Amino acid sequence: MGYRFRTLDVFRATVGAAMLGLAEAAFAEAFGYARKRMAFGRPIGDFQATQFKLANMAMEIEAARWLIYRAAHLRDEGRLSRTVKFASMAKLFATEMAWRVADEAVQIHGGSGVTKGVKVEKLLRESRLPRIYEGTSEIQRLTIYRELERDFK
Ligand SMILES: Cc1cc2nc3c(=O)[nH]c(=O)nc-3n(C[C@H](O)[C@H](O)[C@H](O)COP(=O)(O)OP(=O)(O)OC[C@H]3O[C@@H](n4cnc5c(N)ncnc54)[C@H](O)[C@@H]3O)c2cc1C
Repeated sequence: MGYRFRTLDVFRATVGAAMLGLAEAAFAEAFGYARKRMAFGRPIGDFQATQFKLANMAMEIEAARWLIYRAAHLRDEGRLSRTVKFASMAKLFATEMAWRVADEAVQIHGGSGVTKGVKVEKLLRESRLPRIYEGTSEIQRLTIYRELERDFK
């Protein structure tokens, strides 16, 4: 079949890249806050529950980064029919990852995280829309599945 997603491939990967940046910003806010917010006489970052959150956030950010690089690399190499699946994976994973990371960043901030004007509150709000435009998460999954069927034909 001819190549169908020339523009979407670029934009889906770049939406993913934008959400990677958003997640990195949320992570930096959460990490900094965890080091300075005191509870029970110590920084909340000393509690393993907080450390586990931050470890998962960092891992998800790196996983998204490499999916985005994979999609961009395939596109740069001109391997267009292979790009469709990875552009959808990059967009889907990075946008849902950014939502999860921003949400955990708010959680680490406690009550202050839902206060207007606090950076993580804004990041959480801004991470919601990219799961809808450039194709919703559901449509990315349909695209990925369709490409898997093509791969296994
Ligand atoms: C701020 C903003 C900016 C935008 N910018 C642009 C733009 O520049 N250019 C542009 O062309 N569009 C743009 N859009 C439109 C955007 O791409 C659409 O909103 C998006 O594709 C979803 O379409 P819809 O809103 O009609 O939802 P619908 O298609 O009605 O979908 C509603 C729900 O049903 C689900 N659904 C629909 N079909 C299926 C299916 N087959 N299987 C499973 N689930 C399904 C969807 O995933 C979604 O959850 C923008 C939207 C917003 C909010």
